[in-house]
Amino acid sequence: MSQGKVRVRYAPSPTGYPHVGNIRTALFNWLFARHSGGSFIVRIEDTDVNRRVEGAVEAILDGLRWLGIDWDEGPEVGGSYGPYFQSQRLDFYRKTARLLIEAGHAYTCYCSGERLARMRAEMAQRKESMRSYDRHCRDLSPAERAKLEAQGIVPVIRFKTPLEGETRFNDLIKGEVTFDNTTLDDLVLLKSDGYPTYHLANVVDDHMMQITHIMRADEWLSSTPRHVLLYNALKYEPPLFAHLPMILGEDRSKLSKRHGATSITEYRDQGYLPEAMMNFLALLGWSLDDRTELFTREELIKHFSIERISKTSAIFSMDKLNWMNGVYIRKLSVDELADRLLPFLDKGLPASISRPLSREYIKHIVPLIQERLTKFDQASSSCDFFFTNELTYDANLLLGKKLSKEDAVRGLEAALERLQAATFEAHSLEETLRSLAAELGLKTGDFFGLMRVATTGRTAAPPLFQTMAVLGKERCLKRIQAAAKKLKAEVQDFR
Ligand code: GLU
Repeated sequence: MSQGKVRVRYAPSPTGYPHVGNIRTALFNWLFARHSGGSFIVRIEDTDVNRRVEGAVEAILDGLRWLGIDWDEGPEVGGSYGPYFQSQRLDFYRKTARLLIEAGHAYTCYCSGERLARMRAEMAQRKESMRSYDRHCRDLSPAERAKLEAQGIVPVIRFKTPLEGETRFNDLIKGEVTFDNTTLDDLVLLKSDGYPTYHLANVVDDHMMQITHIMRADEWLSSTPRHVLLYNALKYEPPLFAHLPMILGEDRSKLSKRHGATSITEYRDQGYLPEAMMNFLALLGWSLDDRTELFTREELIKHFSIERISKTSAIFSMDKLNWMNGVYIRKLSVDELADRLLPFLDKGLPASISRPLSREYIKHIVPLIQERLTKFDQASSSCDFFFTNELTYDANLLLGKKLSKEDAVRGLEAALERLQAATFEAHSLEETLRSLAAELGLKTGDFFGLMRVATTGRTAAPPLFQTMAVLGKERCLKRIQAAAKKLKAEVQDFR
């Protein structure tokens, strides 16, 4: 079945917001399709009506679009095409379920919820291995069925799982996998509300959509023998299967919110770059050579292969993601970074700062923060002093570890005077302030620290002289003056 054009799909259920694991599945399928010149399909598996989550479909599609994962076909919507929705394809599943009954591979089951609950409780009491169904309706006669129908009971349709034998398939990642049929239940194919279960809809669609490779999360492995039996019963040729390695947290437990496994759109909102995110996700279970870490999108497409998907679990490291995002941030040009940063600053800076923010001004700030930025949502708090009118900080910070109040006031007043005539350009600012420190008999480290707090309100900030140059003379002088005043008013002279 692998000959011919590759066709793969990403088939999320909109039962929650898509987390990194889901999107990793989408990405691997997409990379494989792009690598092989095949087609990538998005199919929303929304037949579990009770578990649908409002907004989940939008979050899934937004996440894909943000990463640039595009799909190749689907029903027409407003000039372009949307993903497939299983809820719009119910007739296919119902028809197939009826065909399976006619062929003797499925049957109608009239058991009520209460009966099933009772049956399970009794089994538990007898310590029998738990089955979800005891096959009570499997061998009812046509007359018995007719009688139950006449009572108005709407049945479910169940698959007649073979009572013995084994089901085998070859997984492209795990190798040969074998399940004993006696461990498999007579699973429900069509529910009494007329909606298919995941198993039926998934198999019907993968066949109708001519999917060649199913690449999905490891957790679906136990569903696969059921699907293989269904393919056989329907006389469909099964696609090839590849179950992707699990993603674990750094403590080797199942990945959860605690490890940072939030929805993909939250990463976007925190200011991760899509190109960094794609690179990071691609390495969760795939590698080229166990060494290379940085891949452009084109390189990923060029090199991706199922053979290089690992059998062992992948470890999700937030530190690695942050590192990688920093690498990608440093690769951006000043213009690009300014453009991408602007909406985050707009959102994060206090409302008191007048809008619109100046792109030109941001372009001056960018080179000062680019080196140390790991993600964009930090930017507004780390550089708000470039924008605010008045700084708020504890006056004691001005003294640093060593300065006396007297020296600090002296330093600020001397700087105020000297800087009136200075050119606000990093080099000459440095020269001016360095010689001033010597004249005052202050250590440069102490004096520069004082200037840093006075002009930015913080002890750690981007390089001092460049920062002062960007802030400009007027603002710096005002701040130095305010600092001297603050120091006099707020700090006791105890040193
Ligand atoms: N709807 C399933 C999910 O939510 C799809 C599993 C599969 O790819 O077959 O992940």
